[in-house]
Amino acid sequence: MELMGNDCLCNARAATVASEAKKDILPDNNNRIINYLRLSVTDRCNLRCIYCMPEEGITFQPHSEILTYEEMAHAVRLCVRNGIRKVRLTGGEPLVRKGIVPFIEKLCRIENLQEIALTTNGVLLKEYAHELWRSGLRRINVSMDTLKPEKYQRIARAGSLKQVWEGIEAAEAAGLNPIKINVVALRGVNDDEILDFARLTYRKPYHVRFIELMPLGEANGRAQEDFVSSNEILRRLRSLGRFKLVHSGPLDGPASMYAIDGAEGRIGVIPTLSHHFCETCNRLRLTADGRLRGCLFSDRETDLKTPLREGKDDDYLSNLIRDTILKKPKDHGLDLKRLRKCVRPMNGIGG
Ligand code: SAM
Repeated sequence: MELMGNDCLCNARAATVASEAKKDILPDNNNRIINYLRLSVTDRCNLRCIYCMPEEGITFQPHSEILTYEEMAHAVRLCVRNGIRKVRLTGGEPLVRKGIVPFIEKLCRIENLQEIALTTNGVLLKEYAHELWRSGLRRINVSMDTLKPEKYQRIARAGSLKQVWEGIEAAEAAGLNPIKINVVALRGVNDDEILDFARLTYRKPYHVRFIELMPLGEANGRAQEDFVSSNEILRRLRSLGRFKLVHSGPLDGPASMYAIDGAEGRIGVIPTLSHHFCETCNRLRLTADGRLRGCLFSDRETDLKTPLREGKDDDYLSNLIRDTILKKPKDHGLDLKRLRKCVRPMNGIGG
């Protein structure tokens, strides 16, 4: 099969979402099934990626403002009551928060929560991989924007590519599967490595996904210049030969994934800006300081922390969650010509 546009995939996902709708979960006001929660466990990070956080002068939330694990687990249980079936732990860097493994164990015991995943920069993954597996985690995304050690220093400004690779290998050895590698495509920085990343899938069963740069964090003012579209990435990948489109499941993300003939892994793109997938977006976000957001790019938030700490009952909290789901913005309203600045940085929202 030739490389396909993202519209085909959107249609396939829309059909899956529609069939889920027939089961038990109420849709939002735009007829979308919201079954995926991205939970930021911390706004702190051990890296300072050039497109995400400034190198210095960052003010993190005081610990007292961050939800305790107990509060987070309570919120997740109520989200599950409102249709959430998958939770991804993110941040900041989730592995820098102490107690993350017992927290995952606790989440794994929540009835009707079908999938728990984690997104990490991989720096601490070697240390945690086996524990994560034992805690019940099975799916992991590792952010790695380059295959070149010196360039890694330039992009991440801390940690090392060696640590990330060792982390990925430890995760593979521990049995985490699939291992997804996220690459933010940056013009003039790593777009010369698109084919190298694709070739990695010949020898490793990893799913490499190129993410379009978003106007958040340090990329807020620079996204246009540094942007590489998913169409351009797919065009470049074509030179590698024949591809097969791989269909996604109801809890899978918005990536369009392909398998190159003869490859063990998969390669794909996440076209956040150029072909936005708002129509089929199934996500809700909970920030580390307890705000629910219907959209990464909308600064409209529902404060869940205050009522949680005031001891409001579950019906009250559940109504707040339901209301946020119902009022999830129809779309993010951004494209390359209409970039507006988002108030919260990515590490504050949870990427
Ligand atoms: N620390 C973890 C990590 O590095 O994967 C989780 C949080 S990080 C904010 C989540 C993802 O957001 C990473 O893959 C990162 O590359 C991506 N990201 C951060 N800022 C971005 C931006 N402006 N545009 C696109 N992706 C971005």
